[in-house]
Amino acid sequence: MKNFLLGLAILMALAIPFSLKAITVLEPYRIGEMLVYPIEDAANVFGRDIFPDDEETKQKMNAAYPRPESPASINVFLVRYANKWILIDTGLGTKESKIMTTFELLHITPRQIDIVILTHNHADHTGGILDSTGKARYPYAQLWISMEELASGRLRSEDPDPTLKKLSDTYNKRINTFEEGTEILPGLIAHLAPGHTVGHAVIEFKDKMLFIGDLLHAVKWQFANPEICSAFDQDDAATVASRVRILNMAADKKLVVAGAHLPYPGLGTVKRNTDVTDRPAFRYFQIKGYDMALPKNR
Ligand SMILES: [Zn+2]
Repeated sequence: MKNFLLGLAILMALAIPFSLKAITVLEPYRIGEMLVYPIEDAANVFGRDIFPDDEETKQKMNAAYPRPESPASINVFLVRYANKWILIDTGLGTKESKIMTTFELLHITPRQIDIVILTHNHADHTGGILDSTGKARYPYAQLWISMEELASGRLRSEDPDPTLKKLSDTYNKRINTFEEGTEILPGLIAHLAPGHTVGHAVIEFKDKMLFIGDLLHAVKWQFANPEICSAFDQDDAATVASRVRILNMAADKKLVVAGAHLPYPGLGTVKRNTDVTDRPAFRYFQIKGYDMALPKNR
């Protein structure tokens, strides 16, 4: 049932018409020696239909945000760190994807990308890894994905995952796997946060920033109610455990979080909501004063 719902929900979410508004290109967000360029691959919202419709859940969601939709986005993050260009997730890879046009506005080409890190294997994160002819979009990049996520695709021989198969055929010897605590580069650390998918991971820039992938989807409902899972989450219990553990870590270490589905530009901080005492609850604060658009002809 969950698999059916998952497929249905992804289809519904991806069928939402994408905004045709102009591409926004922001000045990079500077944190330590890292520059982060948030890229809005596509605009998005999440409706209530991706969440359970029992009365208790509805009441909790109403209390947090009594509207039919939570603002969202499909973000990828281009990072300049240690003299390398690093891309965290690759977007949808459909004709609506804005990542390549944004690259042009930033005067970056896919050939310059040194490292691509995939938080997990869902189409809105891995879709842009190949170009329209099926070739590697990032021909010189080393690819990183968790060992569990790669194995989950390879092990299902009766239902081989086409994305992972294509990905491993195309990137061949340039696929690297990480485990909990692997340093992809000095100071850039992978943490496993399974549940949403079996090998879902978040990436920490040591003590400063955390790229959280799909740790949660709907900003208005799931920080307040981290126990509520969307139909995208494969294993609810594991997802909630990872979500609470990682959000606590972000709050404790005062990390800036970068979310694939947080409203663009997807950067903020997390605090525990101490008004709620019977369960974990959090608040999200989007980073303010960070809205300087670059001139389009830069
Ligand atoms: Zn996603």
